[in-house]
Amino acid sequence: MVKDCSIGVDLGGTNLRVALVSRAGEVLERTETPSCPDAGGDVVENLAAAIGWLFSDRVAGIGLAVPGLVDAQSGGIVTSPNIRAVEGVNLVDIFSRRFGVPVSLGNDASLAALGESVAGAGRDFNSFVLLTLGTGVGGGVVIDRKLLQAATELGHITVEAAGRRCLCGNSGCLEAYAGAAAIVAQAREVVSSGASTRMKNHDGNLTPEDVYRYAVDGDAAAAGVIITAGKYLGAGIASFINVFSPDAIILTGGLTGAWDILVEEAVREASRRAFPQLFQRCKIVPSALAGNAGIIGASALAFS
Ligand SMILES: [Zn+2]
Repeated sequence: MVKDCSIGVDLGGTNLRVALVSRAGEVLERTETPSCPDAGGDVVENLAAAIGWLFSDRVAGIGLAVPGLVDAQSGGIVTSPNIRAVEGVNLVDIFSRRFGVPVSLGNDASLAALGESVAGAGRDFNSFVLLTLGTGVGGGVVIDRKLLQAATELGHITVEAAGRRCLCGNSGCLEAYAGAAAIVAQAREVVSSGASTRMKNHDGNLTPEDVYRYAVDGDAAAAGVIITAGKYLGAGIASFINVFSPDAIILTGGLTGAWDILVEEAVREASRRAFPQLFQRCKIVPSALAGNAGIIGASALAFS
């Protein structure tokens, strides 16, 4: 049997995505289930079941995109603030024994950057920084068409010295201001501060999409929350432009749905902060792969 496919896994804080991907980066089959971050060791069993469902003799290897800091050498997950259940777990060991093929592991945002570079918006650029704007904020860096082999915890650069607590243990991280969880937390604070906002009468738990919807419908307090997140995102982007002088910043993740408020504010803020020559040569564009960048990057890692 020709080994013409690999399995790419994206272990997100919210969803677990598993796909059968061709060598060219084409997603052939795909499954998605909630990752249940509070379900303890079940994350590993859910993952094994999803891989098993797509696994066949065609599969050359398995690539795992994991949120947090990973040790690619040992296959261990060092720290994963959004899925504590997999910290210290050696998924490479577990799955290579179970499926009998090579298993490789990388940071999810780095592998999303690799995926964009192989089959997405990154194909047009030699150097780019990818930012994933989801539950948290992640990032990956491609320089001269090669994935930068470094932690690249871009969501954990400090943007406010005495700022909000972050899940990583530090305070003032970009993620604590510009991630989806941060936007919801800030919206709740606005509601409990007694400010005039229709978010007060919202039924059920507020989501970032709700906050965006209220903002679009003219709620100034909701718009303020997203604009504030955009300013911090722009401060982060300006730093990445100054450090890496990339051809592009590629943005992906659920929050890019608020492009006209969040990202446009971030672009304005970045233009005020970055070196003008570096800002002008850098394009700020959306991902071309949406939710598939991580699994395509993980699959590419498995083939390498
Ligand atoms: Zn942090």
